[in-house]
Amino acid sequence: MRALIVVDIQNDFCPGGSLGTARGAEVAAAVSAYLRQVPDGSYATVVGTKDWHIDPAGHFAAEGTAPDFDETWPVHCLAGSAGADPHPDLDTSLIDAWFLKGEYTAAYSGFEGHLEGTEETLAAWLRARDITDVDVCGIATDFCVRATALDAVAEGFGVRVLSELCAPVTPGGGAVAFDQMAYVGVELV
Ligand SMILES: [Zn+2]
Repeated sequence: MRALIVVDIQNDFCPGGSLGTARGAEVAAAVSAYLRQVPDGSYATVVGTKDWHIDPAGHFAAEGTAPDFDETWPVHCLAGSAGADPHPDLDTSLIDAWFLKGEYTAAYSGFEGHLEGTEETLAAWLRARDITDVDVCGIATDFCVRATALDAVAEGFGVRVLSELCAPVTPGGGAVAFDQMAYVGVELV
């Protein structure tokens, strides 16, 4: 059984957001279109992840310093803010469950997340539904998509990444991330 993991398609990661990727909105619409046209039964479940920050330690650049866009970032995806909402072009009626990550620490991988309102981890939730394989898409290729795909491999799932349905922070970073994913056995489709 296969699940789709839709990573961090949130306003702050789309054009106009505090950490917008160039292709973010395009990917939001493309994921919705993709889910409407895949054959019934392609996915046993579709889950979304959200970056969801309350006080994430050193994840935000300190006030008065510039983010390095590698380990420190502009303030983004504050829990409950409009920036943390799913992009409006992502049809959230297609998402069965949401997993939140990063409340008090940097968390790039969806596998660091927990089911909204509970402590259940993504890996446990997927296994409870007999999921053996996952497809991954979303934002950003070079950070949270990469981390989620690598953790999915480490958790023992068969992993594909839907490369056209991913948006990078930088094109070069996205290309390197795809290479790293392929190296550990992720199938790029
Ligand atoms: Zn974050």
